[in-house]
Amino acid sequence: MALFPTFRLPPGLNRLTWRQLFLLCLLISGLLYFLRLRRPSATIRSVWGFRSGKGHDPSLRPTRTIWGAPMVWGDSESAGRQRAEFAQRSFRVGLMVLAVGRYTHHLTRFLETAEIYFLPGLPVNYYVLTDNPGKLVPAPELGEGRDLRVVPVAETPGWERLARRRMDLWASTIDNQAQQEVDYIFCADVDQEFANVVGTEILGKLVATLHPQHYARPAYAYPYERSSDSRACVLDEEGDYYYTSELYGGLCSEVLTLAKVCSQLILQDHALGVEARELEESYLNRYLIDKRPTCVLSPEYSWWDSPVTPPVPQKRLISLGRQCASLKNQGKSSLNC
Ligand code: UDP
Ligand code: MN
Repeated sequence: MALFPTFRLPPGLNRLTWRQLFLLCLLISGLLYFLRLRRPSATIRSVWGFRSGKGHDPSLRPTRTIWGAPMVWGDSESAGRQRAEFAQRSFRVGLMVLAVGRYTHHLTRFLETAEIYFLPGLPVNYYVLTDNPGKLVPAPELGEGRDLRVVPVAETPGWERLARRRMDLWASTIDNQAQQEVDYIFCADVDQEFANVVGTEILGKLVATLHPQHYARPAYAYPYERSSDSRACVLDEEGDYYYTSELYGGLCSEVLTLAKVCSQLILQDHALGVEARELEESYLNRYLIDKRPTCVLSPEYSWWDSPVTPPVPQKRLISLGRQCASLKNQGKSSLNC
């Protein structure tokens, strides 16, 4: 009995009836629900790492993430320091793309512009996973120390199907070949072109790129998968940034683990008939919440023009595919969409 001291209501409360108590509980629950709904506008978490009720200023360009990792703007002092540091080191970088079906027509522009702007003068291996190796015969002319590895894949075209397969293809290419040949590997969409220098400021253990259409938005507006049926599900209170699937990379071992884990999540969902909202990009974002990148590239490294894309100092890598998707018909013909 001593364990349960006699419970007494405060003097005024013992006159409450059960009905009044029930109404009081209802009122408190309603109040809590109302406060929860208001939470996003009361506390906006954004890429800028500050909390405010008003929004954010895209002209601010932080050079650190909210957990202290570098956020890379190519012309910043810190990017310059990293380039100076890497000038003393010896390393090799891989750049990997998938080109199946009609996407093979993007290969020439991608490789030509990468030769000019992607780690110019440094050792690079291109890994081109394609169903049509003939497209690369004769092999394009490459600079000194730069090599092309053509990896034949028996895949059929189709964005949705390939979005399920791509992580597995990355994983097996890194496992079977790339990790023996390069230190860092970057996975990229082939429907892109380099438009300005991308240097060693992008190198890091695990590297992700901010999505240009979401980078200045508050976190609650990110298009994370929200359904708990999916293994890509992100809870309301989770997530710092929204990353694009157009470019990510890092040390071979890190990207291999990322690709294996994401591929597994995608296949597990698919087996149950579940598909995350942004497919591969949703699983990538889930993974990068559990394992925060050590280096975050600004949208200079994945850019396309749209009414919701704030300006960046330099457009370094441009997504032609997503640019086409966001253009009205007239602009499409000028871009050969
Ligand atoms: N892809 C491909 N063949 C296809 C569809 C996609 O080779 O039929 C590859 C290609 O590298 C492409 C990437 O998968 O860049 C992602 O597809 P897409 O660019 O259409 O997707 P989004 O940029 O809209 O996510
Ligand atoms: Mn694309």
